[in-house]
Amino acid sequence: MIKAPKGTYDVLPNISHAWRKIEDAEREVARLAGYREIRTPVFEHTELFLRGVGDTTDIVQKEMYTFKDKGDRSITLKPEGTAGVVRAMLESGLNQGVMPLKVYYLSSPIFRYEAPQSGRMREHHQFGVEAFGARQPTLDAEVISIPLDVLTKLGLSDFALNINSIGCPKCRPHYHERLREYLTQRKDKLCATCNDRLLRNPLRILDCKSDECQAELKDAPVMLDFLCDECAAHFAGLKDALDAIGVSYAVNPRIVRGLDYYTKTVFEIIISADEGKLTVCGGGRYDELVSELGGQPTPAIGFGMGIERLLMLLQRQNKSPEAEPICDVFVATLTPESRLEAVRYVSALRALGVKADMDHVGRSLKAQFKFADKVGAGYVLILGGDEAAQGEAVLRNLTAHTEDRVALEGLAQTVAETILAKR
Ligand SMILES: [Zn+2]
Ligand SMILES: [Zn+2]
Repeated sequence: MIKAPKGTYDVLPNISHAWRKIEDAEREVARLAGYREIRTPVFEHTELFLRGVGDTTDIVQKEMYTFKDKGDRSITLKPEGTAGVVRAMLESGLNQGVMPLKVYYLSSPIFRYEAPQSGRMREHHQFGVEAFGARQPTLDAEVISIPLDVLTKLGLSDFALNINSIGCPKCRPHYHERLREYLTQRKDKLCATCNDRLLRNPLRILDCKSDECQAELKDAPVMLDFLCDECAAHFAGLKDALDAIGVSYAVNPRIVRGLDYYTKTVFEIIISADEGKLTVCGGGRYDELVSELGGQPTPAIGFGMGIERLLMLLQRQNKSPEAEPICDVFVATLTPESRLEAVRYVSALRALGVKADMDHVGRSLKAQFKFADKVGAGYVLILGGDEAAQGEAVLRNLTAHTEDRVALEGLAQTVAETILAKR
């Protein structure tokens, strides 16, 4: 038997309705805020992510699915959602239109070669938004409020918003210098990866998962103390805007996010769980990325939110949606002759918006009733009984245990009205 590759899984019918509930919530929240859907390819030229994600990040260094295609081009499966959207915007000229340009993507597959023991999926899915062409912190607050509104709409609770500013190319170098100085004194106690990061990008050390490195970071300088006037004013403006819409938050100077392209605002939404704090959403402003990828300088902000985390939380917080019954009415046949009639009624009922089904395997009447029960049908319509001679069929209500005779004339309409009235 061929099994699914490690780190992948199937969204089976018993869980796909929960996906739909999540996607419905996301689509609705995004729509109300004026975001339109965008879908970009699952793979891109590797170069896009080298430039767009940053070659000192863990993603680019360790986690990308990169391969040569038959035309000897280096191709990479999307390791995050933003770079592809920026590429699509520049290529299509969407950025020449009305700004800000606001887009979202639903359940975009994301591929990262994660260590098997981490319990993370190598293919997972993200909902995200990207907004281009506006510098005001009110936009940052809007983008941050979208995942929060989705969580609320899904009925989830116990989540918290953490925000930070990681400055801009003007002020960050001063901070880098001080951080590097601080960490160089503790070089021997840092892990090998962090020693490498110390040379290339000391900010990445703040992300290190090793306890030893985290212990050394306890008194490390924080970016918030080094913000230039513009960045400080932007951060203050963000806090004001969040206050204005009643969003509570904590300032956490340790958040840097795992991507190189962020500037100014970064944020995370975390939920407390048995295994510690889980990040359900992360994002930030990336005012330099569009120009790094060859476009005109365009400020931008976005986030990514993992669908699998949301599914897990729905389950843990007992907010998983109930699956709706597969069938409203099962059309049972008593005689082989009535089968064609059944085909006709099933089709007519579906056209009227009723989930109708019938037997396709030659079951006895008793077995048809059993099957109807299994697929959750509230009604069984019985064709071909003695009533047929009087131009009637029988409609049995399986929940109320009642039975009605219904005229064959206008049968589909009558049955549909009965069922739809019960909804
Ligand atoms: Zn700055
Ligand atoms: Zn480390």
